[in-house]
Amino acid sequence: MNMFILLIFMRLNDPLMVKIAPLCIINGATQNCNYCYASTIIKNGLTLNGSQRYKCKVCKRRFVGNYKNRAYFPGTKENVIALNKEGCSVRSISRLLRICCNTVQKKILSLAKAACKPFISFNKSYEVDELCTFVGTKAKRVWIAYAYCRETKSVVDFVIGNRSKMTLQPMIDKLLSATPKIIYTDKHQTYATLIPADTHSTKYRGTNHIERKNLTLRTHLKRLSRRTICFSRSTAMLHACLMIYFFG
Ligand SMILES: [Zn+2]
Repeated sequence: MNMFILLIFMRLNDPLMVKIAPLCIINGATQNCNYCYASTIIKNGLTLNGSQRYKCKVCKRRFVGNYKNRAYFPGTKENVIALNKEGCSVRSISRLLRICCNTVQKKILSLAKAACKPFISFNKSYEVDELCTFVGTKAKRVWIAYAYCRETKSVVDFVIGNRSKMTLQPMIDKLLSATPKIIYTDKHQTYATLIPADTHSTKYRGTNHIERKNLTLRTHLKRLSRRTICFSRSTAMLHACLMIYFFG
């Protein structure tokens, strides 16, 4: 076996010697597991394009030492999530990471699929409001309705569609199943038909927190900015980007 282990010491500008974790050196190239960073890896055949494949003895996962495709570089997922949360569009992520647009889209969709909505806490106060945006063309308006918990200061659920009963009902039912103290909304008529009067409030300034959150969303996510040419081209991408932003 060609594998041997070396301890590498690095001297920084300060006089202290800094010890670095042992690295596994295979055929002259330093290599650790891409997933658990363990140094105990072994060779595991070649890929179709001739690159060396390795297997980690600790987590049992396989990986390629030097990926040629940038989309498979370690940390790409984390970068896509961070850039998406900073409001970068698909094309800007594609330019920054030097990955093709279609791959970025696929990554966003798969990351959104992996993200889960949180459990809704019992006996809390919620605010519900809608945010208008466009999908496909500026002629097609859609609303993002979402629920904000006053106590935890977090978004707990959202839906995309028009402001009809059919769109809002799943989210409101989910909130009601957690027996909320009160749900604050604006005076949109549909809420009165969905929420029992004893847990519903439309009082003045009741939705202050969520109105402020609307402003944060419009600032953070470029696709929600007002009076720009930025908007989502499909509902699926809008949903995926919001899933990553809220729960990713
Ligand atoms: Zn591993």
